[in-house]
Amino acid sequence: MAQGCQVLAIDTAYIEEDITKPRRQSTVTAWVNVIYGCNETCTYCIVPSVRGREQSRSPGHIRQEIEHLSSQGYREITLLGQNIDAYGRDLPPGDIGQGVGGKITFTDLLYHIHDVPGIERIRFATSHPRYFSPRLIHACAELPKVCEHFHIPFQSGDNDILKAMARGYTHERYRRIIEQIRDLMPDAALSADAIVGFPGETEAQFENTLRLVDDIGFDIVNTAAYSPRPGTPAAQWEQQIRETDKSDRLQRLNHLVNQKAMGRSQRYLGRREEILLEGRNPKQPEQFMGRTRANRITFVDVQSSETEHDADWIGKTVAVEITEARAFSLTGQLLS
Ligand code: SF4
Repeated sequence: MAQGCQVLAIDTAYIEEDITKPRRQSTVTAWVNVIYGCNETCTYCIVPSVRGREQSRSPGHIRQEIEHLSSQGYREITLLGQNIDAYGRDLPPGDIGQGVGGKITFTDLLYHIHDVPGIERIRFATSHPRYFSPRLIHACAELPKVCEHFHIPFQSGDNDILKAMARGYTHERYRRIIEQIRDLMPDAALSADAIVGFPGETEAQFENTLRLVDDIGFDIVNTAAYSPRPGTPAAQWEQQIRETDKSDRLQRLNHLVNQKAMGRSQRYLGRREEILLEGRNPKQPEQFMGRTRANRITFVDVQSSETEHDADWIGKTVAVEITEARAFSLTGQLLS
């Protein structure tokens, strides 16, 4: 290191449970890391170099953390991992493991933590289309606390670009996963990440991404123009796309994403939704803010006399009739 040479760590490092003290930004919803690092080799991504190999936390420690969160009043947890479907690959077989030879999978973890008393909602991210399994989809449909919201990045709708990205799936596989989800949970919300202007991406290949977004109709897609990360393979490649072309493609994709999101939002109008209240709307403090099970931000109008004590409301799940729908948020009236 002192001479500026590369240094290779060859000893396996395991997570020390006492260094994973999480930061909490809410008193109602909490993120819980279940796996660190990533073993994938996506050619645009710096994560494997900076976060290292996959390391799953033990199901027992995760459950303990969730029980503790529940005792502190948290009602919703989001299980986190760069590639959450890889959870358990590095763990020894265990009692809860239903995989080959007792291997523990992410689906096993969901069943293991589902009955923690006091926790009402469970979410997870980020899913990888290469490993997303039919058993996980069945578990999500079967377990009532697991919310009907799936965040599954597709990155590109073109098979050659997916190959160049080393993503390990085709757009056909991605579409099949969405079909399986919608077969069991027709109203499930779908979100994703997409990159435009990957090195070598032609106009026709970009249009395949537009086609995928148009066909599937996502609730939200986080979009980005490809930006070379030093030390990643794709950053060295020739055929980098001009900034003007990237920004033109990004604009066109965003336009479609917004249009689709608006269409998806309309289905909520007049519906009764369960909203878990997380706090006040910072821009309009006479409203509370929360989310539907499908993760739509929802602002709730309530009578001022009813809201004197925030503590009586925040952390409660209330019934709300949706009266306004925007592309990425809703407004509703309190029903109960
Ligand atoms: S994009 Fe995601 S799956 Fe691919 S290497 Fe980066 S963190 Fe891993």
